[in-house]
Amino acid sequence: MNYANKLVPGALYIVSTPIGNLEDITYRAVRILKEADLIACEDTRHTRKLLDHYGIQTRAISYHEHNESARAADLLERLRDGQSIALVSDAGTPLISDPGYRVVAQAAAEGVPVIPIPGPSAAIAALSASGLPTDSFRFCGFLPAKSSQRRRLLESVAADSATLIFYEAPHRIVESLAEMREVLGPRPAVVARELTKLHEEILRGTLDDLASSVTGRGEFTIVVGKGEPAPESDEPIVEAVKRLERAGVPRMEAMKTIARERGVSKRDVYRAMEDDR
Ligand code: SAM
Repeated sequence: MNYANKLVPGALYIVSTPIGNLEDITYRAVRILKEADLIACEDTRHTRKLLDHYGIQTRAISYHEHNESARAADLLERLRDGQSIALVSDAGTPLISDPGYRVVAQAAAEGVPVIPIPGPSAAIAALSASGLPTDSFRFCGFLPAKSSQRRRLLESVAADSATLIFYEAPHRIVESLAEMREVLGPRPAVVARELTKLHEEILRGTLDDLASSVTGRGEFTIVVGKGEPAPESDEPIVEAVKRLERAGVPRMEAMKTIARERGVSKRDVYRAMEDDR
C-alpha cells in the first residue's frame, strides 16, 4: 500500500509535534492531523493550542499514562471500525519518554497499520548539535527519581562505548549532573536547554564544569560523551583495588576508581572482590 499521500483508513498515525517552536512541524503532519478522524493526545488543552495555530478542527481526546489501558482498548476498537487516528504527545515524538507504547504494541500485534510521521525529538536535536560522537548513542530517557536507583542506572551504562542521552526535569538537573560526574567521571558533556525556544542554550564542557555551573529552569536534555577507553592492564581487578587500599584509599573509593578506570560497573568490581574472599 502506498502510504505517502492518502489517509489510510483504520491506520494509527504516530505524529511528531514541536518541542517548543511551533514552526517545527511537517506539512505532512499538519495534513494528517487535519484529515484524521480523531486525535489522541496527552492533554487536550495543550494540544489544542497547536491545532488552533494550524486551523485544525479534528476532534481530540485524551490518552495519557493514567487512562492508557482503558483508552488503548477504545482506540483499537475505533481502528478496527476503520477510523484513522493520529496519536500525538505534548511535545516531540510520541512514545519517546511519552505515552503510546500500549496502543502501538497492540495495534502492531493485531496487524493494524501503524504509520510514523517523523519530526522533532529533543534527544535527536540535542545529539545533533552536541558535537559529541554520533556513530553510536544510547537513549537512557529519564533517570529514576530515587538517588540509589539513579546511581545504579548510571553504573550500568558507565562502560558503554556509546554517547549517552538523558532527559531530566528542571528540579533534578543539579543533583543529576553531580551524580553523573561522580559515577561517570569528568567526561565531555552537553546540556541542551530550551531547544527551539527563545532562551535556547547549548552548554558544553566536562561533567565537572557542567555540574558546577548549570542551574535553572526550563527543559533540559543531557548528552554525555563516551568515557576514555580503559587503559590496558594485566593487573587483576582485585589486585588493583588492593594496591589502592595499601596506598590508603578507602575500599569503596578504591572500587569506584578501578571500575571507572577499567570501564566496568562497580557491581562487577564488587563481585570480583566477593569472589576473592
Ligand atoms: N517525546 C519528547 C521528545 O520526543 O523529545 C520527550 C517528552 S519527555 C516527557 C520531556 C523531556 O524531554 C523534558 O523533561 C526534557 O528532558 C526533554 N525536552 C523536551 N523538550 C525539550 C526542549 N525544548 N529542550 C530540551 N529538552 C527538551
